[in-house]
Amino acid sequence: MAQFLDLVFDIPANQSFSYRMDDKAGAEPGKRAMAPLGRREALGYIVASREEPPAGLDPGGIKTLRRVVDPEPVFDERDIALAEWLSAYYLCGPGQALAAMIPSGRRLLSYPSLPDEEENIAPSPLELSDEQQGALDRINALPFPAGLGTDRAEPPGTPPMFYLYGITGSGKTEVFLRAAEHTIREGRSVIYLVPEISLTHQTAEAIGRRFGKAAATLHSGMSPGARFAEWMRIRRGEVRIVVGPRSAVFAPVKDLGLVVIDEEHDGSYKSGNTPRYHARQTAMRRCSTEGGRLLMGSATPSAEAWKLMGEGLISRLDLSRRLSGGSLPEIKAVSLERTEGCLTGELREEIRKTAQMGRQTILFLNRRGFAYFYHCPSCGFELSCKHCSVSLTWHKSKGRAICHYCGYSEPPPRACPRCGSLEAGFTGFGTEMIEEEVRRTFPDLTVRRADADSTGPKGSLEETLGMFRAGAVDILLGTQMVAKGLNFPGVRLVGVILADTGLHLPDFRAAERTFSLIVQVAGRAGRYFPDGKVIVQTFRMGDPVIVKSCALDVAGFFEAELAQRKILGFPPYSRLIRFTARSRDPARADKAIGRIASLAAPLMPRGADSLGPAECPIGIIAGNHRRQLILRGPAMGALHGAARTALNRYEKGGDKRVYLEVDVDPVSLL
Ligand code: ADP
Ligand code: ZN
Ligand code: ZN
Repeated sequence: MAQFLDLVFDIPANQSFSYRMDDKAGAEPGKRAMAPLGRREALGYIVASREEPPAGLDPGGIKTLRRVVDPEPVFDERDIALAEWLSAYYLCGPGQALAAMIPSGRRLLSYPSLPDEEENIAPSPLELSDEQQGALDRINALPFPAGLGTDRAEPPGTPPMFYLYGITGSGKTEVFLRAAEHTIREGRSVIYLVPEISLTHQTAEAIGRRFGKAAATLHSGMSPGARFAEWMRIRRGEVRIVVGPRSAVFAPVKDLGLVVIDEEHDGSYKSGNTPRYHARQTAMRRCSTEGGRLLMGSATPSAEAWKLMGEGLISRLDLSRRLSGGSLPEIKAVSLERTEGCLTGELREEIRKTAQMGRQTILFLNRRGFAYFYHCPSCGFELSCKHCSVSLTWHKSKGRAICHYCGYSEPPPRACPRCGSLEAGFTGFGTEMIEEEVRRTFPDLTVRRADADSTGPKGSLEETLGMFRAGAVDILLGTQMVAKGLNFPGVRLVGVILADTGLHLPDFRAAERTFSLIVQVAGRAGRYFPDGKVIVQTFRMGDPVIVKSCALDVAGFFEAELAQRKILGFPPYSRLIRFTARSRDPARADKAIGRIASLAAPLMPRGADSLGPAECPIGIIAGNHRRQLILRGPAMGALHGAARTALNRYEKGGDKRVYLEVDVDPVSLL
């Protein structure tokens, strides 16, 4: 006897494909299988099986599966339902959703199951502060919503959501861990999300210490085989708490009771590839269908979260004090006007003073390389990438002018390539230039740089950070890498070399990003001593974003920012769906985006509008011309309908030489 199976593939098609297979081959939903697809053979996901051939198909024409890959299912009905939701919400194929959810490794058969053990959670030695205890009590007090499940009839509602709002060092981590313990004691499981890069490591260690074998880590740095092995351990119910970045939100834990999102505002929670899902949105969905609580935390919530807190949909829990001897740092904005080089007198003096006290300094600049803008004053020439509409950055250590978008490089020009003027040259400082100036100014201090260039070979970032933590380095200088949740006890001084770098970007989130970055970096100072100091250098003294970030005035910042967003009709007061058409041929990109626009126009719901079609702010990347159309509406539901229908109509007869990308709730509009 034969059976019939429905498969989905990692392709942008919103459909499944039917195959037949001999009964004994072990094909069943939840396993992956190789199957003929068009003229090739592809890995597919079995999502359904039946004994009768599907109606309307000629049984003789149905192809046969080549072979089943997995000896036991790697996903279940709950995963399929989540993939269907991802597909509907993020407008991708269900197979693309499953491919993003499930690690691609294959190692399986020899993996032993661990014997059942008593859960043993190592107790924390800390006694919670009143604020911490109060927050924990409120989280724990809420009973789990009853009667939830993927197959219940009514649509899932909003899950219970909490937000731990407090500066760095206010003890959020301890509350997260206690809430996790409580959830596990109640017999449920926990997903603990952290931003990409270094933080995974730090948190995974802390969680491993406390939860032992009941903990698992899933992150992109692991080999596919190792990730897959962890995935199966979770699937079998051997794990009660999973820690990892964005994609760990898909961890197949049983009886989900809690999702923690640490540093909720972090940009790495949004995927940059199809499906362009956001871990927060996905976590909300899982919590509401599986009956879990959502617990987020940050010193600088996203605008979305701040608005929901104001409306009472997320319960805000404040942590207002630093708990290990630190207090809020003193923050001062200093003008860079009339400064030669990139260190103001004030910053230089504080660096010296800090070193004399035997303490450490972090210098932050969100721009790598030596100098990033080549300009000729005689003829106006600007040096840009041959393949992108962005300027080239001079990397002095590599002796090249490099494109940060596509990697193209060339030797830096000796004179203006257009008019030969010797006046032409690079301006605008990057981390390399700061490093040079700092070394020159403080020859007796040890300096280390941490950015994407200094950390090429694996491990050297960890090494630099380890040395700095151990006190072997006086000054740590770097990009975002030094801004994220790292914990350095010896830091007294934080210097923001240029606070304005992101402010001019043509993106409605530019102010929010800049604000949050400054507050986050400032939070590195004074965690353990009450004398932390922050110097914020700027060309825009008096700019509200700079003023409010230096006052750590989150409420004040959002009051103005949200009012502005409301007037302009941007999120969180509207929802966006962005289409981007990319092509080598600008005319094709124009035509494709124009077609999507005219397909969408008659479908737009009441109160919705569209921005564009227009060239993207970065018009060309890696030789591809980029055009965008943004659909904007008061609510996602109706907007989704318009976008989906337009997309379906577009795909029939779409230009194969144009790549059309869909981004629901885009976080970047560049
Ligand atoms: P956050 O996550 O808010 O940035 P952390 O959780 O890193 O803050 O806490 C900062 C420091 O305070 C850590 O060293 C932590 O061990 C310590 N800490 C947390 N809770 C307490 C407490 N109740 N009593 C004393 N120290 C605490
Ligand atoms: Zn010139
Ligand atoms: Zn380029």
